[in-house]
Amino acid sequence: MADIIQLLPDHVANQIAAGEVVQRPASVVKELLENAIDAGADSIKLIVKDAGKTLVQVIDNGKGMSNTDARLSFERHATSKIRNAEDLFQLHTKGFRGEALASIAAIAHVELKTKQEADDVGSCLVIEGSNVVSQEVVVTPTGTSVSVKNLFFNIPARRNFLKSDTVELRHVIDEFHRVALAHPSISFALYNNGSESFNLPVSNYRQRIVNIFGTKTNEKLVPVEEDTEVLKISGFVGKPEFAKKTRGEQYFFVNNRFIKSAYLNHAIASAFEGLLKNGTHASYFLNLTVDPQTIDINIHPTKTEIKFDDEHTLYALLRSAVKHSLGQFNIAPVLDFERDPNLDTPYSFKTTEDASVPKVEVDRSFNPFKEEAASKARAVAYKKEPASSWDGLYVGLESKGNNSKQDFTEVQFESEESTASIFEEDNQVEQKNTTYQLHNKYIVSTIKSGMLVIDQHRAHQRVLYEDFLKNLTIKEAASQQLLFPLQLHFSPQDIAIINQLKDDLEHTGFVFSSVNEESVDITGVPVGVPESEVSIILEQLISDVENEVPDSHFSASDLLAKSMAKSLAIKTGQSLQKDEQEHLVNKLFACKEPNVSPTNRTTFVTMSVDELDKKFI
Ligand code: ADP
Ligand code: MG
Repeated sequence: MADIIQLLPDHVANQIAAGEVVQRPASVVKELLENAIDAGADSIKLIVKDAGKTLVQVIDNGKGMSNTDARLSFERHATSKIRNAEDLFQLHTKGFRGEALASIAAIAHVELKTKQEADDVGSCLVIEGSNVVSQEVVVTPTGTSVSVKNLFFNIPARRNFLKSDTVELRHVIDEFHRVALAHPSISFALYNNGSESFNLPVSNYRQRIVNIFGTKTNEKLVPVEEDTEVLKISGFVGKPEFAKKTRGEQYFFVNNRFIKSAYLNHAIASAFEGLLKNGTHASYFLNLTVDPQTIDINIHPTKTEIKFDDEHTLYALLRSAVKHSLGQFNIAPVLDFERDPNLDTPYSFKTTEDASVPKVEVDRSFNPFKEEAASKARAVAYKKEPASSWDGLYVGLESKGNNSKQDFTEVQFESEESTASIFEEDNQVEQKNTTYQLHNKYIVSTIKSGMLVIDQHRAHQRVLYEDFLKNLTIKEAASQQLLFPLQLHFSPQDIAIINQLKDDLEHTGFVFSSVNEESVDITGVPVGVPESEVSIILEQLISDVENEVPDSHFSASDLLAKSMAKSLAIKTGQSLQKDEQEHLVNKLFACKEPNVSPTNRTTFVTMSVDELDKKFI
């Protein structure tokens, strides 16, 4: 048989490599920013249009490239950063694989302008889908500008795979943050569709964090410093009381490179053990410095995962350093006030700007009964509603009867007897007694055909979702006035999202007296929403929007309704009184789509007596 193996042409090989390196516009952002840093720039501008789908441009004032290097830089495995395999373990640069530019040029329209300090003129190179279209001499400032236009123009499937602009922009901003946080001594700016989104001057680390995440962040930061032979740690963790419901601000940098590590994340989580409210996550911004010989960065094409020689030691050191800082700065209840606190600490932060006499900070708002009180409040609010209020639960549902029982009996199950009423109709007393709560998770009830098991969390989500959706559509939800306005702080991007959703939020019952650059003042909240939950609801909402916002208006309300329902629904693990259980069952079956939760998960199952009988054979 004839030989069938061929070497792939370079442009095909490059497209394949691009599949690994470039997943979305944010991947281009990362590679170009890293190249700019490796070029020694101290000022870097990132320009994006349409979330990077139309344009990603990075302009740096680094060392630039010669004419020949400019051409060579687009070859695969062309790099100035390593010469041999041993260099892989002495890395002081971000890049080393020599494939980013080649990959990007294989799947986009690229224009590179670059000039070195000593030259009068620079080069301009245009490449489209791996083909060099032109290379000319240009007048351009020292440094490099790379524009990447029409990403995936020649791979429509990949292009179609991209998410909405909101989601892609979120990824772009995330990459920008990661690089900017790792390099406070470089100034960065980000322009999105012609307007400036970030302008980060050269600063210290704390200021960099604050410039990115908002002025309020400053008071939330607890410094962490540790210096040992194997590992140097410096950075900050967020105070426990500011922990978030969503894993937003969690950053590890190893030798100035952002990395993801579930293992090290666990070390932090365990240092926070006992200090965080259930379901919240600590934020952290931690720089680890280790000997480059002890890590392997070349295990993943995007270089965000690292193999450490001795992960266990790092884990232990990290955990104890964070624990120590938390004890020192935040919650240590026993401190000897007479002693010079600086003598107590072997850590170098005693000399930093933050070194102040440790204060005993008591969380005055902490109330061990609060959780319980909040859930009680919710339960009560939920109970107080007159049983007949659900009849207008959903627009268009008015035609249904206004008697819960009647509605309940109309529910069609897929059981043989679905046409008949599912409850023992004539026995009011028995019906009252037929709900039980199982493991604080399910509500079990008898129906005529057998047994009904409801997932309390999902069922309540469905009820709340339809409620909120109705309010959003008819736009006249009841609002409950707060005694004192509630001021909540957010980062500028979060505020942008709140602004986007403000009208919808107001239709659910929120009243904003003002929305400022980094905070909102709230004077009213939807009826039944405890004040203590408001920040969590908004936080969850922002994260939901960032992760999956669809562009249409209808879907935005849908997302809002889903998100609020998720935050406010009775949780698994919450014990419910009999009447609460019954009320929930009634409300569920008054819903338009009682069978599934807003996220399409089953809300209840039934089991007929026949099926049960079979089990006893
Ligand atoms: P790597 O960064 O892994 O070396 P790249 O494909 O990203 O591979 O870049 C190839 C080479 O092009 C780099 O090694 C560097 O010499 C040069 N280069 C890329 N971007 C810049 C830049 N902004 N300024 C100066 N040189 C650059
Ligand atoms: Mg590179």
